[in-house]
Amino acid sequence: MIEDEIKKLALEAGADLVGICSADSIKDKDFSDPNFLLPGAQSVISIAMKFSDEAVKKYLSKEEHKPLMLEEGLITKKLKKIAEKIKLFLEEKGFEAYNCDCNYDYRNIGTKGKIIVSTLRTLIDLINKERDESVELTEREKKTLSSLKKLMLGGLRKTPMNLVPSLSHRCVAVAAGVGRIGWSGNLITENYGARVLLNSIITTVKLKTDTPLEENPCSNCKLCEKSCQGGLFAKDDEEIINIAGIEETIAKRNNYAYCIAVCSGMSGQNKFKEWSTWSPFRFDDIERLPLDDTVASYVQNMFAKAVEKGGDEAENVYRLVENSFLGRNDKAAEDFRASCGFCQMVCSGHNSKKTKENYNSIVNSGCIE
Ligand code: SF4
Ligand code: SF4
Repeated sequence: MIEDEIKKLALEAGADLVGICSADSIKDKDFSDPNFLLPGAQSVISIAMKFSDEAVKKYLSKEEHKPLMLEEGLITKKLKKIAEKIKLFLEEKGFEAYNCDCNYDYRNIGTKGKIIVSTLRTLIDLINKERDESVELTEREKKTLSSLKKLMLGGLRKTPMNLVPSLSHRCVAVAAGVGRIGWSGNLITENYGARVLLNSIITTVKLKTDTPLEENPCSNCKLCEKSCQGGLFAKDDEEIINIAGIEETIAKRNNYAYCIAVCSGMSGQNKFKEWSTWSPFRFDDIERLPLDDTVASYVQNMFAKAVEKGGDEAENVYRLVENSFLGRNDKAAEDFRASCGFCQMVCSGHNSKKTKENYNSIVNSGCIE
């Protein structure tokens, strides 16, 4: 059967989990309708790869950052390659297929990427030069700097805080029986908890589908919520979402700006002062993010302020903008620079003992300065 061949191909190429769902089962939401990427979509194949426990352990205990970052970059590339193999297999059989991107692929990020990225590069270079006391800007450079500040900093103050993916790989994975959604909103798998990365392949052939997992591997320990420096999760408040006919109870979320400020590395702290994420940066003028709707504009301003500072904080914003507009596919694996993701990495699913150990590693390993 073609479904068995696809699964065998995925597993032999390095996937740890694979499943298939119908496109119709997830087309009810904007962010999960596969027809956006491939009109006429009939089926979607979900593939997942797990992280190495050793690399995650070093990351959570703030012993070493690089092993997990390198692995995250390599897994992303591997998932793209496995998906390409499945795509080619389907195309050879005469069907259309689409190999999705694993991350940094949003419906509401424009496509004028190259100009925005190169203009931001010029601006940051000029800001760094202006701050260097050993050199002086020419009159022409001063004029360019002034006009680029107006143009780019204004744009950064409008950074969208609610990014809509081209395809929600989590929805695909739930419908395809790869995992279920946990309290954190992440996909939780039976064997690897939330410590997986996902990709999907959309196709126009109608395939026999898998069924969603009956049991949700989330133990409801809520240590994901306690591991969130950003404060994305509204304390003890919940909401029900429906994916492919499955009802999932997840933590109600505050404004996404709370995650963006921390997960993007703009600050390594917000809620808790005894420990930090891997980001060495902190807020300049407040202790914590505002607890009202001004949070979005506060975080948008943080992007502009970081660029104005130049140096490492400006480079952090540049990296985010470059990834958002140009994607990560052509970048070196070791360039992956996540600084948080603790709500995902803490979670060993129904192995509550292990999740507790992971949580203790996070909160007992101090701050990155
Ligand atoms: S950390 Fe606990 S509550 Fe959160 S998703 Fe994982 S198992 Fe569920
Ligand atoms: S990535 Fe970090 S800041 Fe964002 S929701 Fe998860 S734990 Fe919170």
